[in-house]
Amino acid sequence: MDTAIVWFRQDLRLADNPALYHAAKSSRQLILVYIHSPQEHGKWPPGAASRWWLHHSLSDLQSRIKQLGGRLVVRQGDSQQLLLQLIAQTGASAVYANYLYEPALAKRDDAIHTVLQNIGVSFHRYHGSLLLAPEALQTGSGTPFKVFTPYWKKHQQLYSPDKPLSAPKNLHNCETSVDSTSIAQLQLLPTINWYQGLEQHWRPGEQHALKTLKRFTQSALDGYKERRDNPYERYTSALSPYLHFGEISPKQAYWHINHLADPPAHNRYASAETFIKELIWREFAYHILHHFPHTSDQPLDKRFQDFPYIKSNKKLLRAWQTGSTGYPLVDAGMRELWHCGWMHNRVRMIVASFLTKNCLMSWKQGAQWFWDTLVDADLAANSFNWQWCAGCGADAAPYFRIFNPVTQSQKFDPDGEYIKTWLPELRSLPDLYIHEPWKTPNNIQTETNVIIGKDYPLPVFDLKQSRQRALDSYQQFVKTSAKK
Ligand SMILES: Cc1cc2nc3c(=O)[nH]c(=O)nc-3n(C[C@H](O)[C@H](O)[C@H](O)COP(=O)(O)OP(=O)(O)OC[C@H]3O[C@@H](n4cnc5c(N)ncnc54)[C@H](O)[C@@H]3O)c2cc1C
Repeated sequence: MDTAIVWFRQDLRLADNPALYHAAKSSRQLILVYIHSPQEHGKWPPGAASRWWLHHSLSDLQSRIKQLGGRLVVRQGDSQQLLLQLIAQTGASAVYANYLYEPALAKRDDAIHTVLQNIGVSFHRYHGSLLLAPEALQTGSGTPFKVFTPYWKKHQQLYSPDKPLSAPKNLHNCETSVDSTSIAQLQLLPTINWYQGLEQHWRPGEQHALKTLKRFTQSALDGYKERRDNPYERYTSALSPYLHFGEISPKQAYWHINHLADPPAHNRYASAETFIKELIWREFAYHILHHFPHTSDQPLDKRFQDFPYIKSNKKLLRAWQTGSTGYPLVDAGMRELWHCGWMHNRVRMIVASFLTKNCLMSWKQGAQWFWDTLVDADLAANSFNWQWCAGCGADAAPYFRIFNPVTQSQKFDPDGEYIKTWLPELRSLPDLYIHEPWKTPNNIQTETNVIIGKDYPLPVFDLKQSRQRALDSYQQFVKTSAKK
C-alpha cells in the first residue's frame, strides 16, 4: 500500500486540519509525525512558556490519535534528514503539511520541497492556520498592504466562510512500526517547576480549545464589543495560545462565531463582527511578516533602526520584567504575564508603550521577554504588535502617542480590581490611591500597613519627565532622519 507522511507542526489538531484531511482521503497508509527541531527556528526557537504548552499539546494530540487507533511518531533533530529517513524506511511517496509563515521555517520548508521533488516525493501544503493565504491579498497597485482598514475590507471581499473540515473517523491505517522517541525525551518542561501558574490557568489541547470557544460564546461574546478592554473582566476569548499552536483553526472560530451571529439583526452581531475583526488583525500580522520577513527583527519603518533608544539599563529592564516599576497597572500586567503566561491585550499595549517610550528601550527587548514568557508567543503577532506600539510598524500608533499608565488604569480598571488581583500588597490601600500609591499620605500608609518604598516600590521615574524625554528624543530623531 502506498504511504504518506503527515507532518504536524503548528497544527496540533485533528479537526479542520487540511493536511491530515487530504492525506487521509488519499487512501494511503499514514505516518503521523512531529519533529522537534528548535535549531531550525532561526533566532526565535520556542520560549520557555511555549515549550511548556507544546509538551502538553503534543501529549494531548498523541492520546487523541491513539484513541482513533493511530500513532503519533515523535522525533527530534534535522527535519529534512528525518523525513528522508522515514521515506527511505517506508517508501512514502508524499508528505502532507500545513504552511508555516515564520521566515526561517518557510525557507526551510521551501528547501525541503525542492529536495523531495528531486526524489519524486510530492509535498502537499495547505493554508490551515490562516483564513486566507498571505499572498492572496494585494492593493490595487499589486503591492502588499501596510494599512489595516483597506486590508480588512479586501479580506471581507475575498473570504467566504466554508464549513470546517471534519476530523478523520478513525486512524487505523497508520503505520505503527517506525521508531518514536517519547515526548518526555524532548525535554520541553523546565527542570525547575516555575510553571504552577500556567497549570492553574491553562489546559492545552484540541478539546480544551473547543471548550474555550464554547465558554466564550456562551458567557462573553455578547459583551465582547463593549467590555473586552477591561482587564478585570473575562470578556475576551483567551483563544490565542490555541490558535498559535493550531489546536483550533481560525476557520473554526470564524465559522462558529459567524454562525451564532446570523442573521445580522441578532444582538450579537456587533460583538461577533468585532471579534472577527481581531482574527483579521491576526491575518494582517501574518501578511506583514510574510511580505516583510525582516520585521521579525527589524522595524518595518527602517528609519527607526537609528532611533536613539538607551543602550542598556539592566536595573530598569528588570523592574519592568518583574513588575516592580511602581506604576500599578504596568506592574499588574507584568505579574499576570509571569504567573499565567498571558496578559490582557490593553495592558500589553500599556506595558509596551511604557517600555519603548517612558523607559526609552527598544521594542526588541520587550518582544524578547514576551517571547520567553507568553504561552501565545507568536512571531507574526508579537513582532507586529511590538512595532505597532513602538510606532515603527505597519499602521502603527504614532510614536508621540504615549499611554499614561495612571489615566489608563483609572479608565479601564476604575476600582483597581485587576491591580489588586496581581499586586496583593496593595489590597488594603484605599481605592483613592490604588492608581497612584506614592500619593498615599504617611498616616494612611501606616494604618493600612502598606509602606510605599518598602512593601511596594516608589515609581522608577517621574512619569511627566519620562514622557517629555521620549517626545524630545522623537523630535530629535525626526530632524536627524529628515536630513538623511
Ligand atoms: C505588545 C504586544 C504583543 C503581543 N504579542 C502577541 C503574541 O505573541 N501572540 C498573540 O497571539 N498575540 C499577541 N498580541 C495580540 C493580543 O494581545 C493577543 O492576541 C490577545 O490579547 C489574545 O487574547 P484573546 O485570545 O483573549 O484575544 P481576543 O480578543 O479574544 O481575540 C481573538 C483572537 O484574535 C487575535 N488577535 C486579537 N488581537 C490581536 C492583535 N492585536 N494582533 C494579532 N492578533 C490578534 C488573537 O489570535 C486572539 O486570540 C500582542 C499584543 C501586544 C500589544
